[in-house]
Amino acid sequence: VFRGELEGCYLYSRHSNPSVNAFGKKIAAMEGMEAGFGVASGMSAIASSVLQIMDGPGHIVCSNTVYGGTWALFNNVLPKFGIEVSFVDPKDLTAWEQAISKKNTKILFTETLSNPLLAVADLKSLGEMSKKHGLKFVVDNTFTPMIISPAEFGADVVVYSCTKYISGSSDLIGGAIISSQDFINQLIDVNTGIAMLHGPVMDPRVAYELYSRLDHLGVRMKAHSQSAEKLAKKIVEANIEGVVYPGLETHPQFDLMKSQIHQEYGYGGMMTLDMGDLRKALDLAKKLQEVKFGLFAVSLGFTRTLMSCPAASTSSEIPEEEQKKMGLKTGLIRLSIGLCGDDDVMIDRFINSYREVIKS
Ligand code: PLP
Repeated sequence: VFRGELEGCYLYSRHSNPSVNAFGKKIAAMEGMEAGFGVASGMSAIASSVLQIMDGPGHIVCSNTVYGGTWALFNNVLPKFGIEVSFVDPKDLTAWEQAISKKNTKILFTETLSNPLLAVADLKSLGEMSKKHGLKFVVDNTFTPMIISPAEFGADVVVYSCTKYISGSSDLIGGAIISSQDFINQLIDVNTGIAMLHGPVMDPRVAYELYSRLDHLGVRMKAHSQSAEKLAKKIVEANIEGVVYPGLETHPQFDLMKSQIHQEYGYGGMMTLDMGDLRKALDLAKKLQEVKFGLFAVSLGFTRTLMSCPAASTSSEIPEEEQKKMGLKTGLIRLSIGLCGDDDVMIDRFINSYREVIKS
């Protein structure tokens, strides 16, 4: 067992546990990849994958519109260990290519649909670029489980914050790494495995919960997508400007998004609205909570709608100057549209609240 040659002997749960293994197999099947492994959080999925691949100093090219925690890990922590990260506009393929040639690059990292700006990564082009240069392509698919399968476009490693849609109930923290069997074996190697030796493995009780919840993830994603698309379209019809949703034809990357999704699961549950300034964004979030449209909270992927103001919360790790560079405005409100409640009632609540806040 210690040499990694014998399966089926559950020696110690930080290395291998039947519930965590079952969860890993199931999520790997969902992703169409060889193997999966449960970890303690989305951040540990990202950190463990990246550290395992880097195996020492080197260079990563990363989309500049990633989740604030990922940005902070890459910008503030990894450089202390000799790993440099170049942040590029995820839409600018030339910028990716130019950033690669400069250093000892080992990884291209992107979110499929970025948090919070909802920029769509061109997975096929980035997958091809990573193959051309012999790099590993790591994709955070937290916003679009079931909707997009990054492995189909060349991702070598797919990571998730299971805290979000995969849990669906905002009641636990978890993460997943999906890749080849060889890479998962590297992660749990007793001598050199980052998951094994840094220790952020998934608690078996969390694995048990998530294993069951994967069964209805597809149904939930369809419902999130349906409610979000309906709301986005009604907002546009009501002449409210500033809504961004990847299922709207006005989204600058609508065609790319359409070409990457499994159509039956829709365009996802995430949308943003630019309220012009932080005060108005906060007022709208509070008003919408008051009228029971949703909850003013930073997470996402819950059954109920969650609203946050990323510039002052989940992206606050990113300095103002960088936020400006990536186009993150202080008045942006991020909405994770829920799947419970009557859509028509919720739409009326939204539009009425918006009009009240704008008038005030
Ligand atoms: N990736 C994305 C896209 C996220 O939005 C988040 C958290 O919001 C994470 C990773 C980190 O996940 P966790 O909080 O489970 O560590």
